[in-house]
Amino acid sequence: KKAWNSDNRDRGNPQNGVSPHGNFKKTRETLLISRQSLPIWSHANEIRQSLRDSKDVLLLTGETGSGKSTQVPQFLVNEPWCTGCIAITQPRRMAAISLARRVAEEMGYPLGSRSLTSKVGYSVRFDTSTSPGMKIKFLTEGMLLQEMLSDPSLKKYSAVVVDEVHERSVNVDLLLGFLRNLVLGDKKGRGGRPLKVVVMSATQDTEALWRFFDAGFTKSGIQMPKAPKQTNGNSEKLEDSDSSWAGISSGDEKAVRKRKLGKPNGALKENGKPLTNGATKKEPTPEPIQVFSDHMSICYVKGRQHPVKISYLPEPTQDFVESALKAIFQIHTKEPLPGDVLVFLTGQEAVESLEKLVNDFAPGMDENIPKVSGYISKFQFLANLIWYFVLSVNSLYHDESGVVLCLVKGIGYFWHSKVTQADRTKILVLPLFAALPQAAQQRIFERTPDRTRKVIIATNIAETSVTVPGVRYVIDGGKVKIKQFRHRLGLESLLVKPISQSAAIQRKGRAGREAAGHCYRLYTEKDYLGLDPRTLPEILRSDLSHSLLTMKARGIDDVLGFPFLDPPPRESLEKALLQLLHLGALTETGQISDIGLKIARLPLTPVLGRAVLEAAAPERDCLVDVIDIIACLSVENVFIDLNFLTEEKREEAESARQYLRRREGDHMTYLATVQAFAAEHADRKAWTQKHFVSHRTMQNVMDIRKQLRQQCIQMKLLSASADLNAPPAPSEARTNAILHSLLRGFASNTARLMPDGSYRTMIGNQTVAIHPSSVLFGKKVEAIVFSDFVFTTKSFARGVSAVQLDWVSDVIANL
Ligand code: ADP
Repeated sequence: KKAWNSDNRDRGNPQNGVSPHGNFKKTRETLLISRQSLPIWSHANEIRQSLRDSKDVLLLTGETGSGKSTQVPQFLVNEPWCTGCIAITQPRRMAAISLARRVAEEMGYPLGSRSLTSKVGYSVRFDTSTSPGMKIKFLTEGMLLQEMLSDPSLKKYSAVVVDEVHERSVNVDLLLGFLRNLVLGDKKGRGGRPLKVVVMSATQDTEALWRFFDAGFTKSGIQMPKAPKQTNGNSEKLEDSDSSWAGISSGDEKAVRKRKLGKPNGALKENGKPLTNGATKKEPTPEPIQVFSDHMSICYVKGRQHPVKISYLPEPTQDFVESALKAIFQIHTKEPLPGDVLVFLTGQEAVESLEKLVNDFAPGMDENIPKVSGYISKFQFLANLIWYFVLSVNSLYHDESGVVLCLVKGIGYFWHSKVTQADRTKILVLPLFAALPQAAQQRIFERTPDRTRKVIIATNIAETSVTVPGVRYVIDGGKVKIKQFRHRLGLESLLVKPISQSAAIQRKGRAGREAAGHCYRLYTEKDYLGLDPRTLPEILRSDLSHSLLTMKARGIDDVLGFPFLDPPPRESLEKALLQLLHLGALTETGQISDIGLKIARLPLTPVLGRAVLEAAAPERDCLVDVIDIIACLSVENVFIDLNFLTEEKREEAESARQYLRRREGDHMTYLATVQAFAAEHADRKAWTQKHFVSHRTMQNVMDIRKQLRQQCIQMKLLSASADLNAPPAPSEARTNAILHSLLRGFASNTARLMPDGSYRTMIGNQTVAIHPSSVLFGKKVEAIVFSDFVFTTKSFARGVSAVQLDWVSDVIANL
């Protein structure tokens, strides 16, 4: 009976305090039907049950799209222990916002700050939408860590749901450590109220997590029972036989073999006792939840996965954009509708260039698609009639036709082409990457118009973070852009690396959510077998200075003793501590300094945070400008990559951009660009097109600039009364102040010119070259400071400014 009651609450029973707004009720009711068909729906009672009484931790695994992120918070929101808010963390801002919007719709409320009574909101870096009555809050992992600065025991939350744990971001690892301490530690800070923790993952690697939490609870060392066998695409063994894919010419692949899904097994039990499950009378009986200890449970949600055929390239390719283009058109011309395509590429640049190519080629490609047969409309009938009339008259008169006939012939042609065009399948290209503005991101969820095939071109964001409905074809570029700390250089660099096998399996799985699918891998089968089985957790490959500062600011002094799921090597921890010391964020004795505390409050890396503080110092006084530059450094690429343009266009772009270029380097060029864009009041889009600047990216830059300004005003680094929209006159002194501020942050990213014309880093003495995209490319200056480090064929400094050698020497001497 209890179970039925709680289900009624989910349906928005007004008596339970969560009554939806009238206007939104209809959407809520429509969405309820699709919610009920999600695999997780039949597990609602188990999930509730597993967190009642003293059970504090639930590990929940289920394929992407099974409904974890959207449903779990709704299942829990009316539980008796849930007197506060539920936090659900996401690794990416985009997922946090889109999930919040979806859950608000499903519950029948406006989102966040749009209404005082809204129950759902979100909080991500540079954007927050919350309301006082909020019960469910989606936020990025970084934001929750940020909140822990002022509320270390997370008093306002009754539960924290840590989503996408399989991604193993640094922040998720930190969060798990803090939450473990909170759940196990004394709850005085929380007034004795429990904190429930749900850890959700799309893969079944729960063993390490289970040991991580269980060791703290019981030290019992209970053997973790094996996960139920899944038929949900987590295992490559389930794949259909691999046939080589020979690019666009291939056509004779074997038909997809039918595979029977495993039957859900047995009755619902907990500790051997059956559980009542009134809500799922018509549903198949779900997998049993397995309770391991008095404190912790694991639940495996069985996903629905249809077979996915895999094709590999026979030969490796270097040009992924071109290979993806071929694959898209092969699918579009040969495969039936419905069936959308999801393409995985490395970053915004590659996504945008493929988007452009598909749009350029699509109209020509449509010609190859057979006309659709079926009943014709009145207009089509009329058009055809005219057409036939024209043809016959034309043949009669052998083109010796008069004016009227020519006119009729023209109209006939017009109608004929319209009709034919309307009958053909169209391509709708939708890009998807983290920096894409909100409205554009939301388009991937919209219904595709009739006879249209959606082609979503995404970064690895669509691997697990976002579920795109309707996808049956996946094109996997096999690469991902990741940050990696290079110990030898002591620098963090952006690298394009092959994905792991588990990422390839996740990507493939996107094709089989709704029906049998097909995954085209843009690499050879041999390459696939050579991939690492798993992606290395970020904490083992990244610069830890940010994480350590996060810990220090939250009172963890013994960072080496912190409960890490995968402890990073001691050497990396020590290097990071040294870096913080250099930035002045730690004292000689390893305590966090005032500067460190301020940096920790800024939503920036310690290096950028230090640059902000330096710029705010009275002797520099250039914070507004440094914020503009940092906003540009926080997005992928302000300028459109000229490599993707024709020779002619490239020259046009070079000359249009000339007036934005500054001889001091890229940072001052960024500043000039932001200021010129901000000063443009007439048509900003046209301005960006003229200067080959990305309009989307500039909108993001402006948002980030706004948020950073607000944060700095709050921290009293910037005066609220200052006229922020009138940029100070450029002067040499001001330029020097800006470069000095950047230099203070980026002291370890500096290099000097050597007699042989190369640049060598001041710390580490490694050779770096100026990246071809830099305005200083090919220039010889005595010293450089750079904000980014990329490694492709060799080590490149990107985002470079020319500075005086004695400035650099001074800064380094004082570290
Ligand atoms: P999981 O967390 O298990 O990956 P989700 O709860 O994110 O699953 O998604 C469940 C379903 O809700 C999916 O079918 C997805 O298409 C849909 N969905 C999720 N977010 C949105 C959104 N913003 N708009 C429309 N549909 C969405």
